[in-house]
Amino acid sequence: MRTLSIEAKTSIGKSITLMGWIDIRRDHGKLIFLELRDAAGKIQLVVTPKNAELHKIAETLRPEWVVEITGEVAARPDAMKNPEHPTGEIELKVTDILVLNESLTPPLDISSGGLLIGEEVRMKYRYLDIRRPRLNKNLKNRFKALKFIRDFLSERGFTEVETPSLSKSTPEGARDYLVPSRIEPGKFYALPQSPQQYKQLLMVGGLEKYFQIARCFRDEDTRGDRQPEFTQLDLEMSFVQAEDVIKLNEELLINLIRANYPEKTVQEIPFPRVSYKEAMEKYGTDRPDLRKNKEDQNLLAFCWVVDFPFFEKTEEGGFTFTHNPFSAPKAEFMPDLMNKKNIGEILTTQYDVVLNGFEIGGGSIRNHKPDALKKVFEIMGFEEKKITENFGHMLEALSYGAPPHGGIAWGFDRLMMLLENEPNIREVIAFPKTGDARDLMMEAPSEVPKEQLKELRISVEKPREKIKNRPRLHRDGSN
Ligand code: ASP
Repeated sequence: MRTLSIEAKTSIGKSITLMGWIDIRRDHGKLIFLELRDAAGKIQLVVTPKNAELHKIAETLRPEWVVEITGEVAARPDAMKNPEHPTGEIELKVTDILVLNESLTPPLDISSGGLLIGEEVRMKYRYLDIRRPRLNKNLKNRFKALKFIRDFLSERGFTEVETPSLSKSTPEGARDYLVPSRIEPGKFYALPQSPQQYKQLLMVGGLEKYFQIARCFRDEDTRGDRQPEFTQLDLEMSFVQAEDVIKLNEELLINLIRANYPEKTVQEIPFPRVSYKEAMEKYGTDRPDLRKNKEDQNLLAFCWVVDFPFFEKTEEGGFTFTHNPFSAPKAEFMPDLMNKKNIGEILTTQYDVVLNGFEIGGGSIRNHKPDALKKVFEIMGFEEKKITENFGHMLEALSYGAPPHGGIAWGFDRLMMLLENEPNIREVIAFPKTGDARDLMMEAPSEVPKEQLKELRISVEKPREKIKNRPRLHRDGSN
């Protein structure tokens, strides 16, 4: 039976079998020291020349070979003990070695943290990159955070619902990823920029408390804190006001940090509120970094930014929404919205949650009456026909007794990046894309066979020409 490295401590004097990867081999001539790495950590192994055959096998072992090793657990001589290391007080005196698989020499160093290695090679060999303990830890902690969120929300009566990935193009401010329809040539699905409309429709459906760990897709330039596909904690609630959503999310964030990151301190509870106007005047940004000590990695300064203008002027002189077209204005501005008056002055119910200068979430109370939602589209200058084509289904749904509702979505990758003290979100995503939206490991995007295009009735104008001046990826995540 297999024992994990961390469990060996309790087996001093006993024979155990470990399985994992050779992390390091140090050949001292007579004695060969090996470090074996498994899911639980690392452990030192010693091969003596007593058994010549075994010694010979040990000489052939190379980093990243996969082995099954049997031996007797022994306390290390006092001078060799390393109390800092979880298995630093013991070693395994090897009695048998079975090579389960050999490995080519890895094209990148796995034993280091990896942040100084060029990202192109890390992405191309991501499966090797993930072997490094830091990434392994990040993925495990990401899962722990997701589990905490799921447990917290389900205890409070939320239902997790999966919404479609093949959807309709929606105006959320970014470019859509399109998927051609085979059955209706010339028509396209869009991958969702967020589950916004579906979650509102679930409220019309009477679900009352929804959440989803949702994948979202936005075709925009990749940066340190942006990816073409990213993960949101998306939630929506019926019969609530902004205060209810804010309180619940604050409680969830604080509890998550206390449970999973006890070394971190939340600077101020309740999170301070800053109006958009104040943020811009005082800090020159709508995501202020309120940390009192910016040197301290474990200090978390959250704040809520509120009172955003609903609309902003477009270059053409019209108006567009600043955050979310489905938001309701603050109650006192509802008459102005309905009368399409003082448009530039209307404030929205939008609330953004900011952490150490990063926007990690945002949401609002929605317009649950169709007339009010329609006014938003009219202010944006949409013709009746366009409103019906694009939003007819939403306006219709709201006409069948839609309850008042509101919600929020967190940029989950960004939150994990900050909690794990990482410089960019790619360090907390298993298989991220590069700055120019490529998957170097799978070599996506890729050309497809002509037959596939024919089936979709698609002809490509200039198949091999790439967009010039594509942003390259830098180590710090900037382009
Ligand atoms: N759907 C919004 C977004 O992705 C979040 C929300 O308002 O709930 O930004």
